[in-house]
Amino acid sequence: MAAAEDRGAVATYIPPLATIDPSRFGLCIVTADGAVHAAGDAEQAFSIQSVSKVFALTQALGKVGDTLWRRVGREPSGTPFNSIVQLEREQGIPRNPFINAGALVVADINLAGHEPRVAIGELLRFVRYLADDDAITIDEAVARAEQATGFRNVALANYMKAFGNIQHAPELTLGVYFHQCAIAMTCRQLAMAGRYLMHGGLYRPGGARVVSAQRARRINALMLTCGHYDASGDFAFRVGLPGKSGVGGGILAIAPGKASIAVWSPGLNANGNSKLGTLALERVAEATGWSVFSAA
Ligand code: GLU
Repeated sequence: MAAAEDRGAVATYIPPLATIDPSRFGLCIVTADGAVHAAGDAEQAFSIQSVSKVFALTQALGKVGDTLWRRVGREPSGTPFNSIVQLEREQGIPRNPFINAGALVVADINLAGHEPRVAIGELLRFVRYLADDDAITIDEAVARAEQATGFRNVALANYMKAFGNIQHAPELTLGVYFHQCAIAMTCRQLAMAGRYLMHGGLYRPGGARVVSAQRARRINALMLTCGHYDASGDFAFRVGLPGKSGVGGGILAIAPGKASIAVWSPGLNANGNSKLGTLALERVAEATGWSVFSAA
């Protein structure tokens, strides 16, 4: 057991997240053969927050294909998750789809042609399908709290609107974004939902195709280079797997061809990534040799 001081601090800027017990820890590994290995609080639902950006990106690419990259970049930002500084210099085009600015553009794409409620319902249905679990829900209290306190996100959406890179009324795009962040899932559900990224875009080996092999590969590449904000390099160095973190303390990590892994520990490091979760993934990668940089 790690000492309590190793756990980091829970996010407090979203009030309901401040009340989560920092001693919770869950881990679930789904291997390529379909076996599910769960430990600790793997059945406890938590706010997936920015891990949702992986599923929202997948949905948006399904809608508009590679034209998405006219509105969002594919480079690590090297800045915090909610930073606004690059947007002025880069004319409202966010560096990548996993920083908040990029995820807001992705939410704007998913909103096109829909009422916000329908757009978010579509994403929730997609996530339920991926996880093969209709019990997944949105925590409305978390969504409301973000709506009430997410002033930085409001600023980002309005700033990009000024550059023409948000096409809807900013409050509608923000509504979709806040609700996707408020999806609550267990480690088991999250690891199941990540299977398509381990199976080269297939639901399961020999099963339905969720995305093309190329798209799965590219999403994994973005998770590796941009999935942990300004700590993405450190995560690649320590864990060596495509991964996406959220300020709820969850991380989805993919060992292509080998495993889909979800870990949850609510305490965060200074970059807003789960502290113990990262350590656990480092140990899993070390023990299994699953790092994408391993020779095996
Ligand atoms: N909903 C959070 C925000 O917009 C997501 C951030 C994260 O999980 O990293 O601030």
